[in-house]
Amino acid sequence: MKTEDLKNHIASIENYPKPGIIFRDITPLMGNGEAYKFATDQLVDYARDKNVDVIVGPEARGFIIGCPMAYAMGIGFAPVRKEGKLPREVIKVTYDLEYGQDVLTIHKDAIKPGQRVLIVDDLLATGGTIEATIKLVHELGGEVVGAAFLLELVELNGRAKLGDIDTKVLLEY
Ligand code: 5GP
Repeated sequence: MKTEDLKNHIASIENYPKPGIIFRDITPLMGNGEAYKFATDQLVDYARDKNVDVIVGPEARGFIIGCPMAYAMGIGFAPVRKEGKLPREVIKVTYDLEYGQDVLTIHKDAIKPGQRVLIVDDLLATGGTIEATIKLVHELGGEVVGAAFLLELVELNGRAKLGDIDTKVLLEY
């Protein structure tokens, strides 16, 4: 399999969730064992030489990418979740959506100061979600050593929000 072949397992849904939007659906990729394993292995290869201590991913699709990577690398995974979902003491960050704002949280003890963190999600769009996730990691004293995504919507220029953080993307749209 080649990386580009993974596009055969991404469904493009027009006018979802709103008119004018094309939603890139990763569930066919997850549903195909060969494709899911190949994609995970590609991202693990990227992360391997980075000496990562912990992977951090935002709900819900960041878990789908980050958890199998953490398992393959034998390291931990820390979930970033919407407000009210994590049961213990959290820190939070407010970030802008197209209309209004939202809040993301992480457990206070999820990352120890100085730990090397890889941030992952399924898709990079405007970069708002990943920028908020980076802020949480930095606030806990973690060092973001890389970011990895299955897909990037290139026109939306989410890369700008990543600054000089080393970034790996498997498929560009
Ligand atoms: P951003 O914050 O970069 O604008 O949006 C990225 C976040 O929204 C990711 O957490 C991602 O899961 C979700 N997202 C936005 N558009 C899409 C899409 O077309 N497909 C998928 N699978 N997720 C999307």
